[in-house]
Amino acid sequence: MHRALIIGGSLGGLLAAHLLRAAGWHAVVFERNEEELTGRGVGLGTHPQLVAVLRRVGIAFDETMGVRVSRVVCLDRGGKVIAEQPMARTMSAWSRLYHALLDALPSQDYRLGKRLIQIEQNDKAVTAAFADGSRERGELLVGADGIRSTVREQFLPQAQPVYAGYVAWRAVLDEQRVPPDVHPQIFELYAFCLPEGEQLLGYPVPGRDNDTAIGRRGYNIVWYRPVDSSALVDMCTDASGRYHAGGIPPPLIRNEVIKRVKADATALLAPQIAEIFLRAEPFFQPIYDVESPALVFGRVALAGDAGFVARPHIGAGATKAAIDAAVLAQSLRAAGEDLHAALARFESSQLPFGRDMVALSREQGVYLSAQIKGRDQSQAAQRDVEMLLHAHGTRSDQIATMVAARGLNAYL
Ligand SMILES: Cc1cc2nc3c(=O)[nH]c(=O)nc-3n(C[C@H](O)[C@H](O)[C@H](O)COP(=O)(O)OP(=O)(O)OC[C@H]3O[C@@H](n4cnc5c(N)ncnc54)[C@H](O)[C@@H]3O)c2cc1C
Repeated sequence: MHRALIIGGSLGGLLAAHLLRAAGWHAVVFERNEEELTGRGVGLGTHPQLVAVLRRVGIAFDETMGVRVSRVVCLDRGGKVIAEQPMARTMSAWSRLYHALLDALPSQDYRLGKRLIQIEQNDKAVTAAFADGSRERGELLVGADGIRSTVREQFLPQAQPVYAGYVAWRAVLDEQRVPPDVHPQIFELYAFCLPEGEQLLGYPVPGRDNDTAIGRRGYNIVWYRPVDSSALVDMCTDASGRYHAGGIPPPLIRNEVIKRVKADATALLAPQIAEIFLRAEPFFQPIYDVESPALVFGRVALAGDAGFVARPHIGAGATKAAIDAAVLAQSLRAAGEDLHAALARFESSQLPFGRDMVALSREQGVYLSAQIKGRDQSQAAQRDVEMLLHAHGTRSDQIATMVAARGLNAYL
């Protein structure tokens, strides 16, 4: 049986492993973390293509996978609903999907503590060298190692993440901790607040232990705020003065930074949302674009966030990783023994699709990026609340149109 080395054990790597196995490969996942990635991650958007791919690998997307929302609203600073539209989406959680995928994989094929440092290849095989001194050999290597991919860095060092000019503050509060007067007003809703130059959305998600039962869910907040590059350096510097260029781990964010964002929440947000945010432990994630100019290098392919990172506005990171994995597996199956033909087919379809997804997500963030570019540009990028809600309500349709336009339905 052909062997595939999958670098990265998050959603992209797990999806690739499952689909390659279904296509007859022996896929083994190598993750740099020493421990399972449990307990990290927050809310995660889903779209029908992700559901279809999960079903293909035997994972049912039932009511335990997420919380359904049926309305999207926009709240003003006083907490009044100023716009409202229907919207059918299931909001899941990163760890819910991670566990469903991990539990379905044989444990000996998910190797922790394996940090890739170097790839070597020839016309017969590819070898991965790890930081612990071990080496693994296979016929194919899939780089599913995320936004700062070591695999991409080796082949395309110039393809670096580009900072979009804003960060996403993220927070989840246990349903039981949502104040009883706030809960009926907000909990079941997908809600926007639009402070000047900013954007916040909140929605219910599976709670701790991935529970979707009433009373045990969580409320997830994503708050996009413009931050120029020098202010970002300050926010990414911990109390000991150390700067974390690749993103500061949440526990190291300085108290004064947290205090400042909570004070801003009180001043700028609808009170229902502010009440939730103030009780949570927020952390932030700088927003970047990544567009790799190539996805295949001999026996090596990039998938998921290693190839393209679409901003979180379209909630499609996991969906895109699932489509990448499905196209890769189907291309391998269709090409029989001709690995290079399969990879060429994968790249020719997933390069334009990745660019489409990044472009769609960037469109949604134009307004936020414009805020640090001076008054003229930020005024030119004005928002229309009804259009914003409509775009969110029809997001899955937009993605379905792109998938169909690139002929990808045949792979799902
Ligand atoms: C812990 C975690 C929590 C997340 N939470 C959310 C969330 O709540 N909501 C959301 O929308 N998205 C979340 N994401 C991002 C989301 O998983 C991705 O946007 C998307 O699903 C595509 O995933 P990916 O597997 O391609 O990349 P990623 O999810 O970024 O995974 C890359 C994986 O590769 C591993 N890795 C990196 N370098 C190496 C190396 N040299 N050797 C071996 N392994 C390596 C990383 O440790 C990581 O596990 C999270 C990612 C992680 C890792």
